[in-house]
This record gives sequence, C-alpha cells and structure tokens, in this order.
Amino acid sequence: MDFDLPKEVALVKRTVRDFAEKRIAPLVPEMEATQKFPVSLIKEMGELGILGLITPPEYGGSGLGYLARMVAVEEVSRISAAVGVSLQVHHMGVATLVDFASEEQKQKYLPPLSRGEYLGTCAITEPTGGSDLLGMCSSAVSRCDGYLINGRKCFITNSHLCKAPIFVAKTGEGPKGISAFVVDADTEGFAYGREEHKMGLWGANTGELIFNNCRVPKENLIGDEGDGMKVALKIISEVGRAGMAATALGILQASFEEAVKFAKERTLYGKPISNLQAIQWNIADISAQLDSSRMLCYRAAWLKDAGRDCSIETTMAKTYVTESALQCSKKALEIHGGCGTMMEYNIQRFFRDAMVCISAGGTSEIGKLVISRAALS
Ligand SMILES: Cc1cc2nc3c(=O)[nH]c(=O)nc-3n(C[C@H](O)[C@H](O)[C@H](O)COP(=O)(O)OP(=O)(O)OC[C@H]3O[C@@H](n4cnc5c(N)ncnc54)[C@H](O)[C@@H]3O)c2cc1C
Repeated sequence: MDFDLPKEVALVKRTVRDFAEKRIAPLVPEMEATQKFPVSLIKEMGELGILGLITPPEYGGSGLGYLARMVAVEEVSRISAAVGVSLQVHHMGVATLVDFASEEQKQKYLPPLSRGEYLGTCAITEPTGGSDLLGMCSSAVSRCDGYLINGRKCFITNSHLCKAPIFVAKTGEGPKGISAFVVDADTEGFAYGREEHKMGLWGANTGELIFNNCRVPKENLIGDEGDGMKVALKIISEVGRAGMAATALGILQASFEEAVKFAKERTLYGKPISNLQAIQWNIADISAQLDSSRMLCYRAAWLKDAGRDCSIETTMAKTYVTESALQCSKKALEIHGGCGTMMEYNIQRFFRDAMVCISAGGTSEIGKLVISRAALS
C-alpha cells in the first residue's frame, strides 16, 4: 500500500493551497458581507486549471482525475467552503457532460466550462423534496423537434452563475420516466428564480431555476430519453457526495488549525490552555477525525479514478466527513470560549458552513440508508 499522493496530485494540492491563500482568502470578508460569489474568481480558477481537472484534454481540461479534484476542493474549502462547494458542483455539471453527453454537446459546453466562462450546475432538487427523486414535478413533454419544459428547481448551487444549466425532468412515469437535459440560459421560457439566504456557505450562490413553457431542442437531451435517473444517481453518488466530502474535509482541516492556534495562544492560570487535559482531548479527537476523514475521502477518489465501483465508499466519506466537520468545528469553537461566538473569529464561519454541508448532496439519513443497505445485503 502507498499512502503518498501521486506526484502530480501532490503538486495540484500545493498549487491550489497557494492560490487559495493568496487569491481566495482576501475575498472572504467581502463574500461574508455581501453573500455574493466573486465572479472574477471564475476566470482565475479556469486559468489555474481547477475547473477542468476531470475534463479530458481534447475538451480543454487536464483530465488529471478525481483524486486531483478531491485535493483541489479540499484546499479551496480550507480557505472558503463557499468557493469549495461552488467548485465541486461545477465538477458535477462537467462530469454529467463527460460521462453522458453527445460529442456535439461535449464540444459545445466543455471548453467554456474549463476556461471559466461560467460555472457548471447539476439541478435535480425540487420543492417536493430532494430525498425523493421520483417525487419531482418538472415535466418535459415531447413536441415535434424538442421538449416543452415546465417546473422549478430549488437549492441549486451556481444557479445564477451558469449559462447552460443541466437538469432532470419527467418524460414519463417511474424511474425510467426521468430524462436529463442541458438548457442554454437565453432560451425563451427559462428564468433564474430567487437566490437563497443560507445560514452558512455565504458567497456560494444557491437559487432557483424556473421553466415556464420552455422549448428545449431534442439535441439538448443528455443520453437517451429515460436515462435521467441513472445520470442523476451516478453523478450524485460518485461526484456530488465526493465533492461535499472534500468541502467538509477542508472545513475540518481549517477547524483543526484554528483550534491548535488558539489553544497555544490563549493563556489561563498563567499557562496556554493547551496545557489543560480537556483541551488536549478535544484536539486529539479533532486530529483523529481529520485523519480518518482524509483517508475515506482519498480512498473514494482513488477508487473512482481506478474505474471501480465507489458509490458506497463515496457515500461513507460524505456522511462521515460532513458529520465530523460539524462535530469538530463545534469542538474547535468551544475551545475558543466566548471568542468562538464572535464574528471576527473564523471558527464561527466553519461551524455554520459545516452545518450547511450536512444536507447538500444528500442528508446523513439518506447516506446511512445507502450504507446500511449495502452492509445488510
Ligand atoms: C447549500 C446547498 C446546496 C445544494 N445544491 C444543490 C445542487 O446544486 N443541486 C441539487 O439538485 N440540489 C442541491 N441541494 C439540495 C440538496 O440535495 C437537498 O437539500 C437534499 O437532497 C435534501 O433534500 P431536502 O432539503 O428537500 O430535504 P427532504 O428530502 O425534504 O428531507 C427532509 C428530512 O427527511 C429526511 N428523510 C428523507 N427521506 C428519508 C428516509 N427515507 N429515511 C429517513 N429520513 C429521511 C431527511 O434526511 C431530512 O432530515 C443543495 C442543498 C443545499 C443546502
């Protein structure tokens, strides 16, 4: 066994850490104040190459793969989980095109996504409930040379930053009655809806996509009619959950660093509080959860790169690491005492961001359902 990252992935990790510290960290206060995504960053991320990490070179990416993508999202999220989640959902849109789109669709949509002309999306959730895919209401009715789309997608990351959203809608009944599409945002009948105000991940754009008698041409169908469920499940389980695990891993790493720093700096009874056993035990817990989280994340990405089945391992990583990020950011916040609740300390942001990561990409209950089904089968 080899626990070292491959050389090119280690280089991606170092490069992205440097970029995140120099280019993203200065943007965080503005993102926290305005809850707006810094649009200029999209182009910069494109130039750095992190938008095209899973895009084959013939479509403008580097094709470095999912482990490289994992460490890139982790390092971005260590500085800003809001940018991390935006990057990871962008990759969900890209993966849908890479794995399921026609040659014409790949040629048209992948190069601008790699360059950073806009961010990708993957719009599945509806107001009827994200856990209940079959309960969706959006319809795509076949009409001569295309489809007439009606419906509404909600809680969609990068909704307003994407010029060609990918979405699923009903073309029939049951699991085979869902199809996947891409829509050009200037299509008549398509509109961006409201933008959400979340308790965390401030600056990540989350909003609605609205279809009102929107005519989408047949060539915008992704895969075959009826493939939508297969597309959605694969992208959510293998790409979305891995991305949320990476986002939470970045938060965990940042929480660990803040906890250690504060414990060494804060003096009580004439000594740093790192001398108190209660503080040491909390640091030990955070440290062990960080390490085990990283191993689950990297294994899931390694399996994906090897072309092996990874949906259970990815779901384990998502469920365990998001829950760990929440528990550990809370412990790290408590180490800060009252300071932890003050807005000028980063740790309150990590705690709020970790909470939002629990439901994004599928809740912990759904994660446990998937893991236990596999364990019991
Ligand atoms: C920040 C953020 C970004 C997001 N980005 C995207 C995106 O880009 N694209 C997208 O499509 N969606 C996105 N989502 C939506 C996300 O996938 C859903 O929030 C998630 O799937 C849960 O759906 P829901 O919120 O409708 O909760 P519901 O499905 O209504 O669930 C409510 C509660 O019921 C529980 N529950 C449901 N079914 C079961 C069951 N069988 N057994 C036990 N408990 C159950 C859930 O765990 C939860 O506690 C995002 C969400 C957030 C918060």
